[in-house]
Amino acid sequence: MPKNLVLEHITKKFDKIVAVRDMNLEVQQGEFICFLGPSGCGKTTTLRMIAGFEIPTEGIIKYDGKIINDLSPQKRNFGIVFQSYALFPHMTVAENVGFGLKMHKVPKDQIEKRVDELLEMVGLEDQKYKYPPELSGGQQQRVALIRSLATYPEILLLDEPLSALDAKIRVNLRAEIKRVQVELGITMVYVTHDQEEALSISDRVIVMNHGYIEQVDRPIEIYKNPKTKFVADFVGTSNFFEGTLHGNVLKDKGGWGEFVVAKNVLENSRITSGNVSLSIRPEKILLFKTQNEIPKEYEKRNIKAGKIEVVTFLGVIVRILVKIGESHVIVDITEKDFEKTMLKMGETVYLYFPPEDFLAFQS
Ligand code: ATP
Repeated sequence: MPKNLVLEHITKKFDKIVAVRDMNLEVQQGEFICFLGPSGCGKTTTLRMIAGFEIPTEGIIKYDGKIINDLSPQKRNFGIVFQSYALFPHMTVAENVGFGLKMHKVPKDQIEKRVDELLEMVGLEDQKYKYPPELSGGQQQRVALIRSLATYPEILLLDEPLSALDAKIRVNLRAEIKRVQVELGITMVYVTHDQEEALSISDRVIVMNHGYIEQVDRPIEIYKNPKTKFVADFVGTSNFFEGTLHGNVLKDKGGWGEFVVAKNVLENSRITSGNVSLSIRPEKILLFKTQNEIPKEYEKRNIKAGKIEVVTFLGVIVRILVKIGESHVIVDITEKDFEKTMLKMGETVYLYFPPEDFLAFQS
């Protein structure tokens, strides 16, 4: 039987503040899950309840079929990695990594063997006798990572482990954490407010907002099929249009006129009428330099003319802010297309919003 972690109707209150509301979740053994959400949404509180530092106000936490609500953190055999590495500065790297094993009275030669094995796993063999202040931030966090793995925990909990590091090291280290997770087949529960981090390493992402779970899904689903307007807005970049729906036409309230929406988009979202938000990703909008280039069969109501206001290079893609009336829309095109079209600031362009590329949310 796999050792799954189950949260049933978990609520956590701090006096009047409800940090986590009626959360239900099952984490499979060996799964990498990420709690993603804005500051204060309840991510850390959830992790702390799993770790045993907080007791749920309501609900049950089960691990391997047993209720663990009242089990002390020490008895859970879950490892923890925090944002601050919390290494002992007066102990060598080897002593830091072996600390938990020493506490468990593991014989010295076994500790040494385990420490060497872990150091090798993250390429720190040659740093063994150094002290933490002599290491870079990335190296210190690697030490913290293997220290938490030394005692063979069944689940590793990580709370924003990379936020103190600079961008490049963060990207390298997150790939390393993922590699270690796959290599060991260990369950990892990771907290972050960085969507790129969450989408790149998780098997499933749990998007939280105000203590609620908004969506639990594979990263690609979170990006391509956000179930709520919050998720569409929080994960990636989206353009939003608000209005009232008449059949499959949105009459926009913000001066955009009308947009035709594909019927299956509305059916999938079970929306028939009323106040509706439409969203569309910047890469789904097509950009034309002249009206003549637009294929005749394209829906006329979904073509809007505007002026290029800002151009931002983002590497492979170029992000273009187009002003239409008093509003703006973000369009992404490839760097190759940008070079080909030689677009300039202030230039008038024509945007096409494909009816099937909208997402619709009742508002
Ligand atoms: P961040 O990304 O900023 O760490 P978070 O999503 O992890 O945010 P939590 O730290 O879980 O959010 O906090 C959720 C809510 O619970 C917040 O409103 C916070 O102020 C409150 N909270 C958390 N811990 C306590 C506590 N010990 N006492 C009182 N309120 C708390």
